[in-house]
Amino acid sequence: MTIATANIKKATKKVPVRGMMDNVMEQFNSAADHINLHPNIRKILSITNNEILVNFPVKMDNGDVEIFTGYRVQHNNALGPYKGGLRYHPTVDIDAARALAMWMTWKTSLAGLPYGGGKGGIKIDPSKYSQSELERITRRFTFALADNIGPEHDIPAPDVNTSSQTMAWIADTYMSTRPPAERTANQHVVTGKPDGSGGLEGRDRATGYGVYLSIKFWAEKNETNLKGKTFIVQGFGNVGYWVSHFLERDGAILVGVQDAFGSVENQKGIKVEDLFNYTRINDGSIVDFPDTKAVDKNKFFTLDCDICIPAALGNQITKENASKIKAKLIAEGANGPTNVEGEKILLERGVSIIPDILCNSGGVVGSYFEWLQNRNGEIWQLDEVMAKLDKKMKESFNKVFDYSKNEGVDMRTAAFCIAIQRIEKAYIQRGIFP
Ligand code: GLU
Repeated sequence: MTIATANIKKATKKVPVRGMMDNVMEQFNSAADHINLHPNIRKILSITNNEILVNFPVKMDNGDVEIFTGYRVQHNNALGPYKGGLRYHPTVDIDAARALAMWMTWKTSLAGLPYGGGKGGIKIDPSKYSQSELERITRRFTFALADNIGPEHDIPAPDVNTSSQTMAWIADTYMSTRPPAERTANQHVVTGKPDGSGGLEGRDRATGYGVYLSIKFWAEKNETNLKGKTFIVQGFGNVGYWVSHFLERDGAILVGVQDAFGSVENQKGIKVEDLFNYTRINDGSIVDFPDTKAVDKNKFFTLDCDICIPAALGNQITKENASKIKAKLIAEGANGPTNVEGEKILLERGVSIIPDILCNSGGVVGSYFEWLQNRNGEIWQLDEVMAKLDKKMKESFNKVFDYSKNEGVDMRTAAFCIAIQRIEKAYIQRGIFP
């Protein structure tokens, strides 16, 4: 081989891209090592129980038929029915669905809920479709999944680019597939429904409120006050908006926002409700919000601030930007926003991270309340929902914080250890069939 060809070979050698699954597996393995997890249980938890892939046709508004690919991955149900969202996004694939399902298993376990973990979605850019096309896509996807979901088996919920409207279509379609006498008894097949269709008052803000509470509890433990603290948020959807709303109420100042269309900054402060109202008249986008300057997409996380809240997609904080982040606290509103390499750099620099499975667990806790409400034929009031959420979040936060202090590990490892140990206990008590 000549030197020239050797060089060509080297230059074209593929560098493996780190997927979300690599990330969650590294997080899992380091926690499993810390608790000395039984090797048999490690084997079980390292893989998913079921993976459903469906290709289904839908008629578009112009009469053409398009084929869509949807996923539902059921990771583990040792503690109860599979639970987790459905997202509509071009990045949805089997790797993402597996990783996100696994994170749900740890999240529901840590929160002390009687659920396992699942996740799914459709590989689609929903902004390219009309409302009636999205309705038909959702209904057809639900029909394709109908034998694999159910109120006591696998309970989807909203996630990236899906909403209470999406959940209403799923509930309606799923109920139509059941025998007449069972129909209405099945509305808890999904959570995050609109409040006129079995939804829970407050479920819309539950995730953002939980992120806010996590930040508040962290501030209390660190004897600091949220008043005057600055924060940036990636994503101004349900999570990003509500966490900003509650932080502003406590006197914190929003100084930067990024959404799918662009990034804006104003170090003097961005009024949360004004920005929210602006997005309503600006096709849902924050771009060109008055009195803000546009920020380069790749510099967003390096903006001056005290608190950084990634509340959009995974793999946003990596070795490329972790060393330049100015925030002292990262509160993970999204699932998997910080990868293992990014986290290592942040921890070495003394930056605290409230991990996703704790920080954004208000959403699934709210879902649990909705599920109980439907199952028991009750209607809960907003104030009781918020009070119950507060209590649940505080319990989880304290457990993780204390474990992290007592064991000398970071908060993510602490959260994973607590979550995995609860599942390990279930396996040890029940044994493995046959
Ligand atoms: N999609 C949300 C999450 O990632 C909520 C899941 C649920 O409520 O089941 O936690």
